Amino acid sequence: MAADSKPRVRFAPSPTGYLHVGGARTALFNWLFARHEGGTFILRVEDTDVERNKPELVDGILDGLRWLGVQWDEGPYFQSQRMDLYRAAAERLVASGSAFACYCKAIQYAGADAVVEGEEGAEKAARTPPCPCRDMAPAERQEKERQGLPRAIRFATPRTGVTRFEDAVFGPREVQNAEIEDFVLLRSSGVPTYQLGAVVDDIDMRITHIIRGADHLSNTPKQALLYAALGAPAPIFAHVPLILGADRTRLSKRHGATSVGSYSEEGFLPEAFRNFLALLGWSTGSDEEFLRTSELIARFTLSGISRTNAIFDRPKLEWFNSQYLQKLPLEELLPYVKAELQRAGLWRDAWDAAEREWFAHTVDLLRPRTRLLPDFATWARAFFSDDFDYDAEARAKFWKDHKLPDLLGKLAAALDALADWNHDACDHALRALAEAEGVKAGLLINATRVAIVGRAVAPPLFETMVVLGKDRVVSRLRRALPHVAAP
Ligand SMILES: [Zn+2]
Repeated sequence: MAADSKPRVRFAPSPTGYLHVGGARTALFNWLFARHEGGTFILRVEDTDVERNKPELVDGILDGLRWLGVQWDEGPYFQSQRMDLYRAAAERLVASGSAFACYCKAIQYAGADAVVEGEEGAEKAARTPPCPCRDMAPAERQEKERQGLPRAIRFATPRTGVTRFEDAVFGPREVQNAEIEDFVLLRSSGVPTYQLGAVVDDIDMRITHIIRGADHLSNTPKQALLYAALGAPAPIFAHVPLILGADRTRLSKRHGATSVGSYSEEGFLPEAFRNFLALLGWSTGSDEEFLRTSELIARFTLSGISRTNAIFDRPKLEWFNSQYLQKLPLEELLPYVKAELQRAGLWRDAWDAAEREWFAHTVDLLRPRTRLLPDFATWARAFFSDDFDYDAEARAKFWKDHKLPDLLGKLAAALDALADWNHDACDHALRALAEAEGVKAGLLINATRVAIVGRAVAPPLFETMVVLGKDRVVSRLRRALPHVAAP
């Protein structure tokens, strides 16, 4: 297959906010499709709306995409640097009779190019009185031009007939041209509308498949008209369903965090987030859910995209994250844990060198009980630092027996006397003491756990003792004694 016949897709965010979960899902679908097909994924920043754009947000969007692992092959292109292209296209359309100059006040067409869904869009078109400039007599037009009046450029939508396009998700679509207003292409300020900028760029960048949110379905007939007027073949459209909150309204801040950056900060693994996002509105056709990125790429097709809206289910996302924490090859997980410990100020360079094996083993021991990356630095802090607190609930529950100060002191001595430090030796020492003192082993096990890691929930005690080492276990037991004795 020639390189030219490979798909070219794009993700085209506007820097008017953060990278939203919905945008990230659109970017991911484009990327998965490009990778599956051996095509090209292009990043284009649609930043022509100078009033709403915040250039400083561009970096945040790019960071979000990088964190998500959605790496673009071309770009980022910035529409603000390509204005001449849109203006030239608009003039070309005027010259060919597909568009006309409009001298009406901007207020009369403000919002006419806004995204308006389905029937409402048709009603709006019917309500908006047609601009008289389209049929202006040549002499009058010459006079307006001579006066140098500000002029917008509008598309001259055919008054009759039907505009059709194919959607890979929603099937063939058609709209009566009578329902489409003479939409604005270029504002009198010289700034292109979304329709013009997107279509001119999609043609120029040889985009073959337009994968984007279903909220753009209503724009598509206008864009199909523009493709035809510009003499370019229309691409394949694939509109992906919306993402809703658990209450089935459109996902918004009311449902919790909606920016990708907040999930990165919370300590989700990028691959877990990717897996979760990929299944919002797409499926393999089977019940399989745990799909590593290589498998997502291998299986991604447009035909797997659903027409029904997807529900953003936070507990499900957490489930994916704990699955990845448990199932990732250990070597892949370690850099994330390292970064987390660095952030918390707990990292020691030896864990990357002489004590690497210890570090790997400890992370492996901890990971079945973690939900998010920060758990390694909070819940499991005592494994990486001597500076930790005793959980109040655990103390109240497991340190209440008045014999414990005496017992834990004896246990520290027995452990200190061990020649070999291993699971069975620790196990035997503790059980022998319990038997000699006439107490249940469980009493000592629970109390010791709180003393050496500060928590009631931790990996099995004797494995924990082995990774902490003899010196640390004995000194932590002795350090705990005054706390255990305190009422
Ligand atoms: Zn007009």
